[in-house]
Formats: sequence, C-alpha cells, structure tokens
Amino acid sequence: MGRATAAVTPLVLFFILLLLDACLAGLIDSDRASSAATSDLFFRTLKQSEEHANEVHCSRERSRVAWEIIQEYLMPFVEQETYQISSTCRLHSENDMFRDQEDHKIHVDVNEWSCGYCKKTFRAEKYLDKHFDNRHYNLLNVNDSKCLADLCGALHCDFIINSKSAKTKCNPASAARNHHLCESLADKCFPVSQGTSASRLHEFFLRQFCDAHTCTGNKKPFAKGGKKHTNIFYLAISILTLMLLPLFYLIIYLSQSDLKGKQELKRIKKKG
Ligand SMILES: [Zn+2]
Repeated sequence: MGRATAAVTPLVLFFILLLLDACLAGLIDSDRASSAATSDLFFRTLKQSEEHANEVHCSRERSRVAWEIIQEYLMPFVEQETYQISSTCRLHSENDMFRDQEDHKIHVDVNEWSCGYCKKTFRAEKYLDKHFDNRHYNLLNVNDSKCLADLCGALHCDFIINSKSAKTKCNPASAARNHHLCESLADKCFPVSQGTSASRLHEFFLRQFCDAHTCTGNKKPFAKGGKKHTNIFYLAISILTLMLLPLFYLIIYLSQSDLKGKQELKRIKKKG
C-alpha cells in the first residue's frame, strides 16, 4: 500500500503541475490577446481621430457647381463693369477652399486626369479628387468659412444639378432663407455705396439670383442669361460654306462652257 501511494504521488504531482502550466499558458495567451486587442483599438481610434481631423465638412462637388455658376452667370457681367470683387465677399476665388487644388487639375484626355502637384495620372476626375483628399490635404485652405458649397442655396446649385430630373416641391421656409442669404451676398459683394458699377451689379445680382427664391410666381434663376459661347457648330458650317462656294461656281461654269461647246459643235455640223 505504502509503495503504491509512493508511486502515485509523483504522478499526481506531475498532473497538477501540467494543469498549472496549461492554466498559466492560457492566462498569458489571453493576456496577450487582450493586449493585442487594446493596441488594435488604440491604433484604430488614433486612425479614426486622424481621419476625423482630415474630414472636411464641405462638399467638393457642390463647391465646384457653385464655382461654375459664378463663372457662367456672374463673372461675365462683373468683367463687363470692370469691377473688382473684394476678398471679403464670399464669392471671391480666395474664399473657395478647393480653388488651388481645382486649378491643379490637368485634363489630359477624355479618360486621363493628371495631378498638377505630383504629376500622377488617373482615369477619372473622381479618382483625382480622392487623391487630393488623401495626398494633398495639407494644401487645402480650410481655415475660416471658405466653403463655397455653403452658398449653393443662394446660387441655385440644385437647379443646375437637377435640371434634367423632375421639379422638386418648393419649401417656403427654405426659399425665404435662400432669399435672405442671396440678398446678404449682394449687399456684401456689391455695396451700393461703392459707386455706379457696384450699384448696377447689386441690382443685377438681385434679378439674376435672388428673385427666383420664391414659391409664388414662376421666376426662373439666371434671368439675365450667361456667358456668350461661340457656337462651334455654326462656325464649322460657315467655314464649310465658304470653302464649298467657289467649288460650286466652278462646277456651274464648267458645265455651262461644256454646253456652249456642244452647241458650237452642232452649229458647225449643220453648216457642214
Ligand atoms: Zn498629386
């Protein structure tokens, strides 16, 4: 009996030790796993906070539409008056945070866009936009209120964006808000106190952009029209006509001289 116990005790001890070891290993493993999870979480939150810092609460697309509207429906008239828009006016190019990046877009071909900063090329404009967001974030002019998209309400961006889709229902509250924003832009950018050009443009701005912010009546935005485009189609037709006209006369001249020749031949034959 004593010998049997003596033989069993080391065996039991060995198993206990094995169990302890397994437990310890498990503990370390779980500890390692949890520490890994903690560091993962740490890096994820760090990354998120970085992304959050990079996040710009201004739509590049809508800013671009607003910029195009200004170029098409306002600037030709401002240039006509040889008026200089002040940089305190939110329509001034300095107040568009995307302007520098947009000016560094190179449209090489239909499916080729190139970055003006680092010369990398992309298949579509949206990829170049992404590239700007990721690689050239530091070049964004994010301070102050330089989001042109914020002026979209006053400038009728949705009218341009949705021009092909069905008309949306007019909301009197938002129409009133946009009308107010529109008038404040007119006052700030074209102060009537600054002379005849400014007051003429102030009046123009109200008619061109602000009058249409109403739910009553059928007022359309950009009532005064836009930039005059030289129509390439008409230009091509006129050049073609000018080129074909001498050819046309030449054919007529040749056919008539041919006819005369034949008549002459007939007369000679008769005489003969
Ligand atoms: Zn680049």
